[in-house]
Amino acid sequence: MSTATWRYDRMTWLQIKDVLARTPQPVVAIPFGAVEDHGPHLPISTDNDILESVLAECGRRAGGDLLVTPTIPVGLDEHHMDFPGTLSVSMEVCLAYVSQVAISVARHGFTHILIVNGHGSNQAICELAARKCVLETGAICANTTVNAAVHPALVADVLDSQRKGGWGSVAHACEYETAMMLHSFPELVQMDKAYRDMGQLKLKYFNWDHPEPSAFSYQAWWSSFSKEGICGDAAVATAEFGKVMFETTVTRFVEMVREFQTIENRPRVDHH
Ligand SMILES: [Zn+2]
Repeated sequence: MSTATWRYDRMTWLQIKDVLARTPQPVVAIPFGAVEDHGPHLPISTDNDILESVLAECGRRAGGDLLVTPTIPVGLDEHHMDFPGTLSVSMEVCLAYVSQVAISVARHGFTHILIVNGHGSNQAICELAARKCVLETGAICANTTVNAAVHPALVADVLDSQRKGGWGSVAHACEYETAMMLHSFPELVQMDKAYRDMGQLKLKYFNWDHPEPSAFSYQAWWSSFSKEGICGDAAVATAEFGKVMFETTVTRFVEMVREFQTIENRPRVDHH
């Protein structure tokens, strides 16, 4: 495969057929993003920008082990609709849409599928969509993210050692997302409008930032706790921090893809 063929939709159907016959098959990534407010300093495309820039680089570096479908660009965002420009699709339609994209990939015979989330509130949908794909096709389908503000598991150690803002700095349009945009799309960032907004709750058993675990999850209307769509410390973000996080994410995601490829599809056993 040439380096250009990491894009699923840029291949011919004959090339797809060839790829299906390879051992191991590439992992197919399905990005699922959002269009929503990201403070006064970032465009409403931010979640999709981070998702697509990271996955494109992963695709280039994965040497044929990763195919990336077009991004599903609009997610579950009703709770952001108080901010002009946000686009939202109902949770039922999101689940149906994402799961049907994954299932259609599986129906061609792809065995390893990753739904890659770019927006926090899509998380539960991604988990259910992956499960629907497994139950309906028998393929190995999982969900993950390349956005550490959505879930930091892939890069938590580097995120914690490199960020400057301390607890609460990483949540949304925050130190992390602003830094990622400064690295990949500096012309889209208005740093003179970036500031710190710590409006989110921090209780003994609930918080949004790690490493302290949150014992329960709760999603309020965004305009009830964030003045202009920032949650975290956008002011301390730097392109250098963004570069470190981008490189770490790409390196580890490609490594994770190759680990994911090794998962065997073990047969079910009917004990009736
Ligand atoms: Zn975001």
